[in-house]
Amino acid sequence: MPEVLANMTDEILRVEGLKTRFFTDEGQVNAVDGVDLAIERGDTYGIVGESGSGKSVTARSIIDLIDSPGEITDGEIWYRNREFADAVADDYPDAIDDDQVDLLRIPPSIRRSLRGTHFSMIFQDPQSSFNPSITVGEQIAEAVEVQQRASANPRSTRARSQNYTLTSMALGTVLQSKRYVTSASRERAIELLELVGIPDPVERADEYPHEYSGGMLQRAMIAQALAGEPDILVADEPTTALDVTIQAQILDLLDDLKAETGMTILLITHNLGVVARMCDRVGVMYAGEIVERGTLEDVFDDYVHPYTAGLLGSVPDLEGAGGRLQPISGNVPSLLDHEMGDRCHFADRCPKAMENCLNHPPEYPTSGSDDHAVRCVLAETEYDDEKALPDDYFVGTDRPAGDKHVGPDDRDEDDEERRHPPAETTGGEHQ
Ligand code: SF4
Repeated sequence: MPEVLANMTDEILRVEGLKTRFFTDEGQVNAVDGVDLAIERGDTYGIVGESGSGKSVTARSIIDLIDSPGEITDGEIWYRNREFADAVADDYPDAIDDDQVDLLRIPPSIRRSLRGTHFSMIFQDPQSSFNPSITVGEQIAEAVEVQQRASANPRSTRARSQNYTLTSMALGTVLQSKRYVTSASRERAIELLELVGIPDPVERADEYPHEYSGGMLQRAMIAQALAGEPDILVADEPTTALDVTIQAQILDLLDDLKAETGMTILLITHNLGVVARMCDRVGVMYAGEIVERGTLEDVFDDYVHPYTAGLLGSVPDLEGAGGRLQPISGNVPSLLDHEMGDRCHFADRCPKAMENCLNHPPEYPTSGSDDHAVRCVLAETEYDDEKALPDDYFVGTDRPAGDKHVGPDDRDEDDEERRHPPAETTGGEHQ
């Protein structure tokens, strides 16, 4: 176990060395390449990075939503739940460590049974996630039914059987296309709509997705995700498609629900304002790797990695409104295995790249909190102009010429606004 992860306590989820590959005609894509992270119970953990950095694939790997040609090829995903560990201990002793279970060492069918009841997910785009031909209430009620069916499954670890009968389970199994919603499930759906702040939930339950506004539909999706009372809610860019006012309402809602239910949230976002507002811990992701992680203060105030510095530097500054934004030059690299090379993956965009960056850096602990770690040589080596790579070293890239002023030595202690941006100022990516 990485030392920085070993220092954490009461972690509900610990991911070690996770690798997810996609085997395409062009070659092997290393979408997730050795990710380590640990999430404490009741915390909100944010994974932040540009599009294409591997954030969503990481989340989907954890919740077991990787489809062919994708495959989790290595790693461990330790989920802490005493009841679940006891339930599978006899059949899969190698997957157990006291009250933790390595989800990658149990069969996929059992892993899938955790979806909804233990892990749940809010997707980016509620408009395309709901079936337009079925009322919202019925779709949420179906989610309630599915969770109850999972609970009625002898392999399931949760004993929930409210009003659920073997007849309805058999019917649902034989007639997959037949929708069955008990009155109890419908009532629960209405309760959930009310919980997420949908006005007139009884009437709204009978409306179709197109009759909901974007914000209301996102609330409905959160209601659907809560149907199984999950321990961990994975929220993949939950506010991307919303205007800033509704974004703030949805974030408030997630905060309230977390306080009310005690659930843990894994938040995927490119929005540093959302991270600053919501998260206890943060992992900055680039090219399939977590390149810096730690507490919110570690990453926002004591960052080491030039990519973290670049992300923070690209946030609009209300104080300096009118100035040009500072984008990170270049683009995220190809994740094709044969094109990635054995160097720091950020080197061709990094203003501080040196000769020793041509070897892929390991993860270093830092002088920040116990779990502050960074995959960059600057954690243990001062930037040395003498050893800098020539600006034209990487042919065909936009590597910034002569701008070395990004990094831990260049932090502006007074620039609080830039490091703690309000969510409303960071509605998009600046690439
Ligand atoms: S300083 Fe070197 S190791 Fe650190 S991000 Fe830049 S290129 Fe990578």
